[in-house]
Amino acid sequence: MTVFANTQQAQQSFWHPMAHPASVRQSAVTRIVSGEGVYVTDDKGQRMVDGVAGLWNVNLGHNRPEIKAAIMHQLDELAYYQSFDGVSHPRVEELSARLSAMLAPEQMARVMLSSGGSDAVETALKVSRQYWKLVGEPERTRFISLRQGYHGTHFGGTSINGSLVFRRNYEPLLPGCIQIDAPWPYRNPWNAGGEELGALCAAQLEREILAQGPDTVAAFIAEPVQGAGGVIVPPANFWPLVRAVCDKYGVLLIADEVVTGFGRSGNMFGCRGWGVSPDIICLAKGITSGYIPLGATLVNQRIAGAFEQNGNFTGALMHGYTYSGHPVACAAALVCLDLVEREQIPANAAKQGDYLLQALKPFEQKFAAVGEVRGKGLMLALDLVSDKASREPVDPMDGFANQIARVARAHGAMVRPVGTKIILSPPLTIQLPELDILVNALDTAFSQ
Ligand code: PLP
Repeated sequence: MTVFANTQQAQQSFWHPMAHPASVRQSAVTRIVSGEGVYVTDDKGQRMVDGVAGLWNVNLGHNRPEIKAAIMHQLDELAYYQSFDGVSHPRVEELSARLSAMLAPEQMARVMLSSGGSDAVETALKVSRQYWKLVGEPERTRFISLRQGYHGTHFGGTSINGSLVFRRNYEPLLPGCIQIDAPWPYRNPWNAGGEELGALCAAQLEREILAQGPDTVAAFIAEPVQGAGGVIVPPANFWPLVRAVCDKYGVLLIADEVVTGFGRSGNMFGCRGWGVSPDIICLAKGITSGYIPLGATLVNQRIAGAFEQNGNFTGALMHGYTYSGHPVACAAALVCLDLVEREQIPANAAKQGDYLLQALKPFEQKFAAVGEVRGKGLMLALDLVSDKASREPVDPMDGFANQIARVARAHGAMVRPVGTKIILSPPLTIQLPELDILVNALDTAFSQ
């Protein structure tokens, strides 16, 4: 292994995603060097509860021997082989069958594997477009998504992302991508809440479909609980109403479960928590607990059938990645899925998430800067405001969220500042004592 004598040069070569190069002061970078269970340790020896599970993904905790053993075993047996056009290997087939079985209640029929969440979304968008061509409605090319939604960084995902900040540097984007208001109880144009808000947002979707022309809309895509946009938990009627609107106009429904898949929102899958079966499901992150990159896109029989009934190149999915079904990633996923089921991970996420939410809720009264604490399962956000009455967010440029995160880290809690929010998404294996460390560190940070 190359060891750079000049660590400063090594550090400066690394281009931090989602940050201006000049804004990343090297002296302030938190460098994580090891992880064990729900803890990580930085290069100065500071041990912290990993309040963000890497990046919403190390759901089973760090340094799990079972996952490492599966990876090592697969490396010995077959490190890589492709799974294109008629070539295959056992792990890719086993994992595809396993995912279809897990999602049998949602009637998922086929699985396309890839390397992460952005790939999974890109696959979903391209499959949607091709589906409509196969069934003789080639004009259906548009995608509707939610403001504050996050769907990754490929051009497809960038085009449907709900925040301008992810889109504007990369225009022109995919044509025909439209965003509608998110079902966000804390901030929405109607100042509505509960079922009223769910109905208003679903009605907006219907109006938008009609405005675009139903025969031009390919799909509606959303996260069951919006994550990166600030952990936005929709009213319970929103997803069932969305399913009904999509059915009325034949529009495909895509659930981006990259964050919510495999337990994070307290259900095995986020859409299951809302009692809805989408047509396409995107998965990544928790599928391998972050140990190895992997994404998956599942489609139901409505879509799979259309491909099967068409011959030659029209019915062939002309899409796939060198690392679609990487054997090592599949082996890691297979053991992770066993652990998720055996350790009843979604139930623990629901239980510990309730505790964390209740423990943090008093911050709304205690601290002037905390407008709202919200969450579902083990995905939570503290919404930072400059004025509680108007719910005006803090200035994202003043570095307040970063300051909170810095003090929390010094007190043993790794938390994530995202714009005007502090995000919490710890490993789903977390227990009470570590949750208390997160709460106390944040209490100290806000007090200071
Ligand atoms: N979709 C959602 C809901 C996400 O939260 C993310 C990443 O955070 C993505 C897609 C993109 O995933 P990746 O970063 O693995 O490409």
